Amino acid sequence: MRTKPFALSLLLGSAGLVALSPLQADERIEVVASFSILADMVHNVGGDHVNVTSLVGADSDAHVFSPSPTEARAIAEADLVVFNGLQFEGWMERLIDSSDYSGPLVTATDGIERIPYHGHDHGHAHGHDHDHDDHGHDDHGHEDHDSHDDHDHGEYDPHAWQDLALAQTYVLNIRDGLIDADPDNEEAYHDNAERYINEIDATDAEIRELLTEIPPSSTIITGHDSFGYFSNAYGLRFLSPVGLSTEAEPSAANMAELIDVIREQNVQALFHENMTSPAIINQLAEEAGLEIAGTLYADALASEGEASTYLGMMHHNATTLHEALADSDHDEHGHEHDDHDHDHDHDHDHDHDHDHDHDHDDHGHSH
Ligand SMILES: [Zn+2]
Repeated sequence: MRTKPFALSLLLGSAGLVALSPLQADERIEVVASFSILADMVHNVGGDHVNVTSLVGADSDAHVFSPSPTEARAIAEADLVVFNGLQFEGWMERLIDSSDYSGPLVTATDGIERIPYHGHDHGHAHGHDHDHDDHGHDDHGHEDHDSHDDHDHGEYDPHAWQDLALAQTYVLNIRDGLIDADPDNEEAYHDNAERYINEIDATDAEIRELLTEIPPSSTIITGHDSFGYFSNAYGLRFLSPVGLSTEAEPSAANMAELIDVIREQNVQALFHENMTSPAIINQLAEEAGLEIAGTLYADALASEGEASTYLGMMHHNATTLHEALADSDHDEHGHEHDDHDHDHDHDHDHDHDHDHDHDHDDHGHSH
């Protein structure tokens, strides 16, 4: 029968645990990630050694997020903070300042080859014409170009996770941040990062194989310009009625211009984004007389199903594009072409849940 004070027995209990097992579940470090895609990457690299909190949740839009004191507190109590950078989460720097956080900070895009953003130009497939020439991006007029090189407000496309090769840089940055915050588990973070990068490579190969069956000239409309890196890595042409951020509503002129482009350039497919309102895409589809071909996961994971992990999301997007655009699929009735799959009733309702259950059969023919 125990007569010891509770706190003392707890203390002895945990001391006993140390003797039995060096791995203590309650010594996980607290990592705060700005949005769901980064949180999943941290989870993969951190494994059992981390608790991960995502400030912006699944199916939510990080561009327009307004942090509350709850988020400031989460950061204040964190052992590591991870964010994307390149002005994706414009609210993040202020939030970190206001929380007095002084621990390690990972900017996941550090060291990637950034894609300069040349503004909203329907005449060109952005993503294909960038030249990595650092002299080339002297201002295009619409940004107030301040003199600090590291603060190019909106000058670079921030959506670099859409290229799996660049995601490897994200993973290495996250790994190094975890080692910084928790050097005792360096070996585990190295091993996990290596394993995860192998999975990223495998997904990249699968996606490339799927997308070779889509004509490279295919043009796709999404809610905002979030697929520049995807286009750069995997081909295809993406257009949208707004720019890099979802903050601005498209103007009537932008909408009219895009409808002209859809008609003149034989645009085949419009897609909803999971984390923004479908209204604008619905309006474009209606005015252009096209159907919505599905939902692409742009800036957030799904709350459940295949796209609830980063790699699942990338695979989902590729299979969704493939279903809409592959080979013989250029007429509007092409969605019926899958003779190797059954129960494929996808995409024609605008329900977010429809995407979660039809993709796993597709693994079979890509190996
Ligand atoms: Zn975005």
